[in-house]
Amino acid sequence: MDHQEAQKRLGSLLEHLCDTFNVPYPDEFALCGRLTTTAGLFKASPSRFLKGRITISKKYLDLNGYTAAAETLRHEFAHHYLFHKYSHISNFRERFRKSGHTEEFKAFCVQVGGKMNTQMCGEEYARHACTNYVKSEYKWKYICKCGEFLTKTKRAYSLKELKKYQCRVCHTTMTQEMKEAIT
Ligand SMILES: [Zn+2]
Ligand SMILES: [Zn+2]
Repeated sequence: MDHQEAQKRLGSLLEHLCDTFNVPYPDEFALCGRLTTTAGLFKASPSRFLKGRITISKKYLDLNGYTAAAETLRHEFAHHYLFHKYSHISNFRERFRKSGHTEEFKAFCVQVGGKMNTQMCGEEYARHACTNYVKSEYKWKYICKCGEFLTKTKRAYSLKELKKYQCRVCHTTMTQEMKEAIT
C-alpha cells in the first residue's frame, strides 16, 4: 500500500470514528515525513474555532505497516475526542490536561482499538501495549505482494528461514523479492 492509499484509508477511518462518537473532524489530518520520534500526534488549539490536528508518522507507517498506523490513529483520535468532550472548559491548559493520558483516556483509547506505549499501559492495559518503534534498529522489512506487512528483521533471512513464513492473508510463502531495505 502506498502513502496515498494509506492516507485515504486512515482518513476514512478517522471520519468513521468522528461520526460514531459525534465529534467534529479535525481541521487537518495528514501523514507526515518529518515526524520521526513519535508515531502520531494530536495537536490542540486554544482557539474555539479550531478543531485540532492529527498527524501520523510516515516513517512509522513504513516501518510497521498499515494496521499499526491505524492503531496509532485510534490513539490520537482518543485525544481528539476527549478534547472535544471537554470543550466547555474555558481554561485551555485544564482542557488540554483532561485530554492527555488520564485513566479516562486509557479506557477510551482501548475501547476504540488504540494502542499505548508500555509505560502508559501498566498492568491493567498490558494487552494493549504497543511495542513498535519509530526509529528502528531493524534493517529489512518484508512486504507480501498482496500488500500485507509480514515482518521486519535486523539481518536478512536465509532461504531456509524464509520458507517458514507465510502471509496470513494470501498464504504465499515469503521470498527474497519481498525484502525491502529500511532507511
Ligand atoms: Zn497519546
Ligand atoms: Zn499476502
